[in-house]
Amino acid sequence: MSIVVVGTIGYDTIETQHGGVTEALGGSASFFALAARFFSPVSVVAAVGSDFRTEDHRLFAERSIDIRGMVQREGPTFRWHGRYHEDMNIRDTISVALNVFADFMPDLLPDQRRSDYVFLANISPDLQQHVLSQVASPKVVAADTMNHWIANERAGLVRLLPRLDILTVNDEEARMLSGEHNLVKAGRAILKMGPDTVLVKRGEYGVLLFRQNSMFVVPAYPLEEVIDPTGAGDAFAGAFMGWLARNGRVTESILRTAVVYGSVLGSLAVERFSVEGLAELAWDEIDQRYRTFIELTDSHHSKWTSQ
Ligand code: AMP
Repeated sequence: MSIVVVGTIGYDTIETQHGGVTEALGGSASFFALAARFFSPVSVVAAVGSDFRTEDHRLFAERSIDIRGMVQREGPTFRWHGRYHEDMNIRDTISVALNVFADFMPDLLPDQRRSDYVFLANISPDLQQHVLSQVASPKVVAADTMNHWIANERAGLVRLLPRLDILTVNDEEARMLSGEHNLVKAGRAILKMGPDTVLVKRGEYGVLLFRQNSMFVVPAYPLEEVIDPTGAGDAFAGAFMGWLARNGRVTESILRTAVVYGSVLGSLAVERFSVEGLAELAWDEIDQRYRTFIELTDSHHSKWTSQ
C-alpha cells in the first residue's frame, strides 16, 4: 500500500566539527522517501524552485519514488543551514528559507487522495493540514514537526494533533510541546493532546514509543562514527511508516518491528553526509543491520543461549 508524504525538498548546508557540505540535497520529504521506498511505494507532495538540479530530480526517479506531485515553481528552492556541536545531538539552525514553500498550497493528485498512509513530514502545520484534508479516508496518519513550528505556529500544530494517529518528535520538541521536562511525562502529556501513538526520538540514545496502555524502548544502533545526523529522524519515519504500509495493519508487534526498522535506517542515514547514506543503500545492508540490531538487544538470542 502506498504512502503519500508532504515535506521539504531542498538544499542543506551542514557544518560539523569534522567537515561539512554545501547545498547538498536534503529536506524532510527527501530523507523520508529515500528510506520508505525499501518497504512500500511512496509518492511525494513538495515544491522545488527553478534552481533545482536535474540530477536530483533523477536521483528520486531512478529509485522508484513517485515525484509527479513535486512541482517546480518560479523562485529559489528551500534552503537550510545547520551547525552541529561536538555533541552531535545538539545543532543550531543558522538560517532557514522556505522560498517556494512559503505559499505552497498543493492540490493532490487523484491517486494521492486515495492513499491509506499519510506522512506529514516536517513543514508548516497549515500545509500539513491542507494536505491531510484532501486525503479521503486514510488508515494511518502520522506527522513530524520541529522546534521552529512549535515555537512559531503552535496553535496550528495543536489543532492538527487530534487528527493524527502517530506523532514523531525529538526529545527537545517533546519537552517544548508538552511543557514537561521528564520524557515519560512528556510522552504521556502529548498522548492527551490527540495522537494514539507518540514516538520520541533521542538521537544516539534511541527511541521511546508511547501508547495509552504500553511503552516500548529501543536503543540506537551503536556506531563508532557519526558523520552527519541530518535526516536521521526522517529516515526513521520513512522506514517506520514503510513497515506499517507493507503490513497493511497496525498491531503492537508490527509497531515494535517498525521502530526497529526505523532505527536501522536512521543509523544508516547518519554514516554519510546528506542523503548519500540512503541513496546508495541496498536491501542486503538493511537486512544485515536489522539482524545485528536484534542480536544486540535480545538477551535470549539463539546464537548465545546455549553458551
Ligand atoms: P532532521 O535532521 O530529521 O530534523 O531533518 C533535517 C532536514 O529537515 C534537513 O534536510 C532540512 O532541510 C529540513 N528542515 C530544516 N528546518 C526545517 C523546517 N523549519 N521545516 C521543514 N524542514 C526543515
